[in-house]
Amino acid sequence: MRIGCVKEIKKQEYRVGMTPDNARSYVEAGHDVYVEAGLGLGSGFTDEEYERAGARLLETARAVWDHSEMLVKVKEPLPEEYPLFHEGLILYTYLHLAADRPLTEALLKSQVKGIAYETLMEKNNSLPLLAPMSQIAGRLSIQEGAKYLEKMYGGEGVLLSGVPGTPKANVVIIGGGSVGTNACKIAVGMGANVTIMDVNVQRLAYLDDIFGARIQTLMSTDVNIEHALKDADLVVGCVLIPGKKAPKVILRRYLKKMKPGAVIVDVAVDQGGCCETTRVTYHDDPVFKVDDIVHYCVGNMPGAVPRTSTIALTNATLGYGLKIASDGLEEACKKTEVLYSAVNTYAGMVTYQNVALSLGMDY
Ligand code: NAD
Repeated sequence: MRIGCVKEIKKQEYRVGMTPDNARSYVEAGHDVYVEAGLGLGSGFTDEEYERAGARLLETARAVWDHSEMLVKVKEPLPEEYPLFHEGLILYTYLHLAADRPLTEALLKSQVKGIAYETLMEKNNSLPLLAPMSQIAGRLSIQEGAKYLEKMYGGEGVLLSGVPGTPKANVVIIGGGSVGTNACKIAVGMGANVTIMDVNVQRLAYLDDIFGARIQTLMSTDVNIEHALKDADLVVGCVLIPGKKAPKVILRRYLKKMKPGAVIVDVAVDQGGCCETTRVTYHDDPVFKVDDIVHYCVGNMPGAVPRTSTIALTNATLGYGLKIASDGLEEACKKTEVLYSAVNTYAGMVTYQNVALSLGMDY
């Protein structure tokens, strides 16, 4: 199959859908790989590395789209890219169609086979192509939070670990899933006092088993959240109810009782945010203050570390990508049935129920 990869055109997006090692794997499996010149520079991969891996460099994104039977990306295509769609193309990327009618309509009109990373669900209900980005966002949440606790960044001026003879910082994590567990790991590693809350008791039991006496687990209730926030230095909000807007668990009235200069990192911002005062921010201006509380609400946190994110994402996407490329989408789905869960558009129809329901389209 002819497989292509183009640079992302979204603002400050330096991740790419294919590393030179991935290109080599596709070439060794007998495929032709086409990449846009300069493809990997934002993630630290040179054109020479892609060429050494057997990929062919093309000067423009248009040439790559035109050559490709399967296009591998990271982000959903933007309107400038819709005219490049062509019938039968397999588009393998994050799509997030439920919130994007124009993109859905463009995919249907041009009969693109849209394979969405975010809906691929394994038999144990895990989302293997979403998990690596949650791991990165969780780990980054503590790193970013630690930075914005510094005085010159508007924070209260505390070091997460403290030093002998000083208090450690209090980190409160609301939501104990992939993001929360990874935030917990780093916060514990940095020596902070960590409290983690969830509504799922089994999840709390799991966290208690892994981290033992190094953390406090608490049921996520309004009373527990309000109480914990009073002493918190860094709060990480990472709740998720799949397919729904995030519940507002951090109310505005709690902020007045918090320490001035405390930091809230609302990782759930991409689902509308779990803090009442959240609004989306970007890497070039990531924070704002409400009631003297620093808010960090960047919607694509993994974009801050594109090299790590590209490697982590493509570690997860390559295996499924090779199956699709080698057998063709239809045969690959028959052999590996979980692939059906990623097919969002096919032959001019929406083929993923929640997308159809969200957009009021036929399914
Ligand atoms: P997950 O499903 O693994 O975990 C979510 C957890 O929230 C679950 O354990 C669930 O029981 C818990 N929860 C639900 N309601 C709760 C409540 N009221 N109080 C406390 N806990 C509650 O999800 P995840 O992969 O950890 O993702 C969390 C959020 O982070 C999602 O919205 C995801 O889209 C987002 N995310 C954002 C970025 C970013 O760059 N901003 C990156 C990755 C993920």
